[in-house]
Amino acid sequence: MIPLRRSPEPSKLSSQRAERLEDARMALASGEKIDFDGYNEPEIKKQLFEDQSYKCAFCETRQEQARYNDVEHFRPKSTYWWLAWTWENLLFSCVYCNRDHKKTLFPLRGSSQRLVAEELPPGGELPLLLDPYDASIDPHSEIEFRLGHVADRERWQPVGLTARGWASIFAFGLDRPPLLDKYADHVRDLVRPRVELFQSALENTDRATALAAWNRLCGSLFAPRQDFHALSRAAIAILLRDEIREYRLPL
Ligand SMILES: [Zn+2]
Repeated sequence: MIPLRRSPEPSKLSSQRAERLEDARMALASGEKIDFDGYNEPEIKKQLFEDQSYKCAFCETRQEQARYNDVEHFRPKSTYWWLAWTWENLLFSCVYCNRDHKKTLFPLRGSSQRLVAEELPPGGELPLLLDPYDASIDPHSEIEFRLGHVADRERWQPVGLTARGWASIFAFGLDRPPLLDKYADHVRDLVRPRVELFQSALENTDRATALAAWNRLCGSLFAPRQDFHALSRAAIAILLRDEIREYRLPL
């Protein structure tokens, strides 16, 4: 997971909210089910898709098309119905993170108080899940990747550095077996070859050429639409260790 920046709310969402929140209140008052359409209109989905550089907010897997994936509610609409059309509560997620894992999970720290109906976040809530759009959160200090081995194969395992980091790994399924395979492939096929190019530039050339090699490494692995920035960052830090003391890793 990496920090994300949200663009201004699409006008389509504010018009949907104005209309549908009122309908939701009336439905609740008359004991009917709330109609939750309207938050996933193409314009809204497209904006989230672009804000996230076509990647899932949780696992950072690049998605080919927005229409195959979900607009996810960080606070689930089944509990927080009044936030179903709130821009700050929407994320773009792959179907695996959303439908197979997070679903309607939204754990809180034991000492905190869940919002009451129509109360706006954060109120007294201390969520146990990481919101990548929350500017006060640095996901790199909550989850890191560690290198291990299973049989002869490398395994890049996400581990929690905090209770919130662990809860997020579990809730979003960031250590599910298909993702662990993708992490290993990513490091083997993309990170290692670029790391080796940088190392040979360090050994054989002057500082300016080494810096150019570093910039090429970062430019390719941290291109906005490239998968798994958090993993690349961790893998570079582990594979290059002392050699990159003078270089800064992108966020
Ligand atoms: Zn995902």
